[in-house]
Amino acid sequence: MEEKPLLKVEGLKKYFPVKKGPLGRISGHVKAVDDVSFHVNEGETLGIVGESGCGKSTTGKLLMRLLSPTAGTVEFDGKDITTLTNDEMRKVRRDIQMVFQDPYASLNPRHSIARILEEPLIVHGIASKKERREKVKQFLEVVGLSSYHAKRFPHQFSGGQRQRIGIARALMTNPKLIIADEPVSALDVSIQAQVLNLMQDLQKEFKLTYIFIAHDLSVVRHISDRVGVMYLGKLVEIADSEQLYEEPLHPYTQALLSAVPIPDPHFKNEQIIIQGDIPNPADPPSGCPFHTRCPHKMEICTKVTPVLDEKKSGHSVACHLYNEQAGNDIKQLEGSV
Ligand code: SF4
Repeated sequence: MEEKPLLKVEGLKKYFPVKKGPLGRISGHVKAVDDVSFHVNEGETLGIVGESGCGKSTTGKLLMRLLSPTAGTVEFDGKDITTLTNDEMRKVRRDIQMVFQDPYASLNPRHSIARILEEPLIVHGIASKKERREKVKQFLEVVGLSSYHAKRFPHQFSGGQRQRIGIARALMTNPKLIIADEPVSALDVSIQAQVLNLMQDLQKEFKLTYIFIAHDLSVVRHISDRVGVMYLGKLVEIADSEQLYEEPLHPYTQALLSAVPIPDPHFKNEQIIIQGDIPNPADPPSGCPFHTRCPHKMEICTKVTPVLDEKKSGHSVACHLYNEQAGNDIKQLEGSV
């Protein structure tokens, strides 16, 4: 079966102005998302991973148009949503829903669960009151809760149950795409697996496409078909899940993966420690954004930004180590000094 992209992102950028002085003069920009391109096929899960501040959550918000991009296109179901009016975008939001990290903060504590779940249907003018009540019952059961929970309030649930409610709310409008932003990071490890399994079951049942944002490579491993790694606003590697975990190419991905514990006492994983802190995104390093911390840094890395390039079928990386052109570029650089 031919794979069809549901979402296609091209050259996406989000720059936030940095203001200084009493007059609020713009002195620079934080490049939160800087020229990011990827696609997500129908029915698949794309994991997006990186340390905090790498731009993964901003990317999620841009895809929902909760933020307007500085540049780039986001094609959803064949339509560029960056140019839609607010009214047109409201219709699209039925098809793209979000699950948030902190289920407690994202559920209004003064509203009953029934009211919380009905809200997206009311906002989009879908279904009569009776149908809405039926749907509330149906989706509470779908996520492993019971219809009698509808009358309760968020504080009466555990963290895992609250995230199930967050997932039920996202499902109410029968979306095609769900963007899950760190959906299990606030939960105990024992509960994380239950929520991940639930999300996988729901994906099959409702033919959902997921973008799963996380800071931890081990969390996205089992749920993702493909994984993209972000660093300082840029996508530095993207590949099929298996390929990425078996043979990571980018030094940053290699370091992140070396920190993931392997449940095998005979396997000795040599951890690569990344030196230094993430640079200030308002003043990113020249050339490769990772060069200040990379153990393989070469001269060219400080001067030329590597582009994301396909090195093997479906496996792209932005690193001069794999760039045949890099040798020539170094010679050129040396010649120009
Ligand atoms: Fe390291 Fe250079 Fe590759 Fe950047 S381009 S990751 S600095 S080797």
